[in-house]
Amino acid sequence: MAALTPSKRKKSKIIRVNLSWKNALIYGFVLLFIAFTFFGFNQSVEPKKVVPISQIISDVRQGKVSEIKVSDIVLTVTEKDKILTSTKEPGQNVYQLFKDAGVSLDKTKVIIKDDTGLNSWINILSSVLPILLMVGFFYFIFRQARGAQENIFSFGQSRAKLFSKDTPRIKFSDVAGVDEAKQELAEIVDFLKHPEKYKAMGARTPKGVLMVGPAGTGKTLLARATAGEANVQFFSIAGSEFMEMLVGVGASRARDLFATAKKSQPAIIFIDEIDAIGRQRGAGFMGGHDEREQTLNQILVEMDGFTPNEQLIVMAATNRPDVLDPALIRPGRFDRRVILDMPDIVGRKAILAIHARGKPFVKNLDWDKVARRTVGFSGADIENMLNEAAILAARLEKKAIDMKDLEEAATKVKLGPEKRRLQSDEDKKMTAYHEAGHALVSWQMPHLDPIHRISIVGRSESLGQTEIAPEDRVHETKTRLIEQIAMAMGGRAAESVVFSEMTTGASSDLKKATRLARLMVVEFGMSDLGPMTFDEDTKSYYESNQTSENMSAKIDEQIKKITDVAYKQAIAIISKFRDKLDILAEELLKKETLESEEFLALMGPRKAFSFAKA
Ligand code: ADP
Ligand code: MG
Ligand code: ZN
Repeated sequence: MAALTPSKRKKSKIIRVNLSWKNALIYGFVLLFIAFTFFGFNQSVEPKKVVPISQIISDVRQGKVSEIKVSDIVLTVTEKDKILTSTKEPGQNVYQLFKDAGVSLDKTKVIIKDDTGLNSWINILSSVLPILLMVGFFYFIFRQARGAQENIFSFGQSRAKLFSKDTPRIKFSDVAGVDEAKQELAEIVDFLKHPEKYKAMGARTPKGVLMVGPAGTGKTLLARATAGEANVQFFSIAGSEFMEMLVGVGASRARDLFATAKKSQPAIIFIDEIDAIGRQRGAGFMGGHDEREQTLNQILVEMDGFTPNEQLIVMAATNRPDVLDPALIRPGRFDRRVILDMPDIVGRKAILAIHARGKPFVKNLDWDKVARRTVGFSGADIENMLNEAAILAARLEKKAIDMKDLEEAATKVKLGPEKRRLQSDEDKKMTAYHEAGHALVSWQMPHLDPIHRISIVGRSESLGQTEIAPEDRVHETKTRLIEQIAMAMGGRAAESVVFSEMTTGASSDLKKATRLARLMVVEFGMSDLGPMTFDEDTKSYYESNQTSENMSAKIDEQIKKITDVAYKQAIAIISKFRDKLDILAEELLKKETLESEEFLALMGPRKAFSFAKA
């Protein structure tokens, strides 16, 4: 996700240097190894002139030999004018050898070299060294394979690095707006605190809790708070941390995690983003990901292996419960589901209160207004917004954070930071008309929420934005969806009417419009195809697509029908109110940003536009 931090980058550099150093060692070993095997040390006993042992015997008989040196099987024989070499059978006694031949050794000096002599040392070495080198060689190969993944083998020793073990001091009171979830987790807390109560009743103790909710709704936070509330150890690991370069690491990591947690019971094991490993097995093409499956299997085995005495709770978090393997959510595994929703206005107010602690705000700040402004913000967004507001206020050297800072921070969190690009007047005019087009169409859509602000100041990807002030809603209606699609078309419609031209700037609008239209057809049953859904997600290779080709074509037809109608509506509105569009675009070019009041002052009250039914 994030770019490498400087310290990480530094670390990987060090590893690379070490590797090349290791490489040199490896090559050295290989060379030595080859040298030893091909030119063994034995060869250092150089044969002078090798003769058969029978000749030595006859020479001794003739009294020619003054000295025989025996070293292992090699006999070095000194005669008057020459030195001969011969060999005997291994293990054969030299004295016995001559005795058997009926030859006396009286006139010959026999020196038997001790077996512990240098020569035999060399012999031993030359047979053992290659093996040692081989072992060393493979050791280095392994070390190198381990490379960047430092802790695969040291895994057993450095547990602390793998999963943080601590007793969080976070309590339920630090998490706001998720009261139902807290209620369900209170039971887990009670079980961890008073297990005997449940045992006495013979109740099957809870094992696995799956926390489901969109990103930033506080899943991780709530898991920690549960451990804090129960005052137990908390072992956490992210699903992706199980995946490593070497197959089998994930499974052994899981085994280790459970073993460690078991030792410090009562405890909570938390597997964050479990969808990284918990996806349906066999979901990939032809069998899928082995490593992932092994890890998943290991976790299931561990969870099945809990005895009733175990005071361990496994919690896991995901924002994709739909992709999880059914085996994970069977009874006795992650059979409890705690759902965290995006916070409603009450929840947002509570979250604001938590994160406003320790920050100075102006006295008369309207927190209700802030809560209303932050529709669609997750807990993490809110925290982020308050932080941005604080930074902004500090930069402007204010004494306290005010509404303007919060407003700016909210826009920044939702739409990204301001990004002023160098634009030609032509480009600016195009952008102004484009945004004015969105605003004008929305003004004529009676069911849409009112305009909050229009701007032609670029932010991240976009050149301008037309924001509406959304309200908390449980349902979307077909009417509102169609109006949203028409509003999304407003930008392109204005370009087309005013400039008879199309720009690339409308591409994300079109994407949004098409996505909404598709959802209407395949998810919400809001098209001529009738009230049914079309599961277009091909879950696995084996499970064939549920939607026939014929039906797919019809779906596309319906989507096109919806977007075409919406575009026609947008064109009709733009054409009818062309004068208003010009006023709006000009004002935008002058002021860059228009607030809702300024917009309404220019346009007059919103009214319903009646168009001929398509
Ligand atoms: P998730 O795991 O669901 O993606 P996190 O628990 O990581 O979300 O939330 C990120 C941060 O956002 C938290 O550390 C916390 O500061 C803030 N946050 C999110 N939800 C809440 C909440 N319900 N109450 C208070 N703070 C929250
Ligand atoms: Mg999280
Ligand atoms: Zn647009």
